[in-house]
Amino acid sequence: MSGFTRREFISASAATAATAAAATAGANPAAWGVATLRQEPTAAPGASGAAPNLPVVIASSNGLGGPPARKSCVELAMELMLAGKDPLTAVVEGVALVEADPSDQSVGYGGLPNEDGVVELDASVMYGPSHRSGAVAGLQRIMHPSRVAKLVLERTDHCMLVGEGALRFARAHGFEEMNLLTEESRKAWLEWKEHHSDDDDWLPEGSNEIGKQAAADRNWRHTFGTINCCAVSPAGDIAGVTTTSGLSWKIPGRVGDSPIIGAGLYVDNEVGAAGSTGRGEAVIQICGAHTIVEAMRRDPRLSPTDACIEACQRIVDKTKLPRLRTKEGRPNFGVMFYAVRKDGTFGAASIQEGPEFAVFAGGRARREKCAFLYPKGS
Ligand code: ASP
Repeated sequence: MSGFTRREFISASAATAATAAAATAGANPAAWGVATLRQEPTAAPGASGAAPNLPVVIASSNGLGGPPARKSCVELAMELMLAGKDPLTAVVEGVALVEADPSDQSVGYGGLPNEDGVVELDASVMYGPSHRSGAVAGLQRIMHPSRVAKLVLERTDHCMLVGEGALRFARAHGFEEMNLLTEESRKAWLEWKEHHSDDDDWLPEGSNEIGKQAAADRNWRHTFGTINCCAVSPAGDIAGVTTTSGLSWKIPGRVGDSPIIGAGLYVDNEVGAAGSTGRGEAVIQICGAHTIVEAMRRDPRLSPTDACIEACQRIVDKTKLPRLRTKEGRPNFGVMFYAVRKDGTFGAASIQEGPEFAVFAGGRARREKCAFLYPKGS
């Protein structure tokens, strides 16, 4: 699944053509697409004292939808904020729905495992009013890493716990341990293990009948997927969360951008919040979420969408290795950024055209298309 995350790929292919994107040529940030989604920052609170664009919740595309029986992440987060919960609780409980959903193989229970077949989860949270953060990385056997990350913020003097230490901390707080590997994810892992090389002794089903051979007809690349969710409360307070099972078939211990504050998530209560999904290594190397929030701080007229586009362009500029570039010289992987300002304006951008994001604003939950640098097929 080159170029896109698994989740975005699925959602982009399944999506109806909700919002037409104005395709733009080339990677010139001044000429990027989806002008219809561009939002100028609004002025401060209106005469009534209430900010007109608040509250708002944004998320990666898996923040909306899911199995019919369950509420979506953005809907629950909005509901909780309207019921008076703080935005951190709202977003963490919103993504908990996705963490618990085995059909989302990029997050929590049912997430795709590492190369040993073990599910390792990463998550971070950040709360604007206190400017505190919490994170866990490489956490095994706990369905809700974002709730553990929230406890790191609330109940420790630290910012991040990893591996065994994170598990012991979760246990101490009464989290139940469980096997996170669903049958579907185990089978996907086994299939990868049996096909990704023709130079080992793991044979796909039927190989002994037809002779040992590699499956040349499939692309056994690693896949990505995550949920990021950020919210601004009616009072203008900001919080965010990013939670993931990370890169599938990763080297055990690999940590992506999601639990790294400033990379997969950043919140500044005076400015806004940003988060990411996609190839975490690329996001870490440009300090993605922090770059976006600082861009919005530097220029109060810069829309969240423009700030996200700037970060995408930075990744393009910094992707030097030929193995990470297409023959046209562009990144051969996907990265998506999502951002919201304190005034409630929001936006998202992707390196390639296609992905969507979820938003609950103006009383309505919906998906919108991410802005992009490179049109499909260009
Ligand atoms: N950013 C995540 C990671 O690199 C994966 C993803 O969002 O697709 O672990």
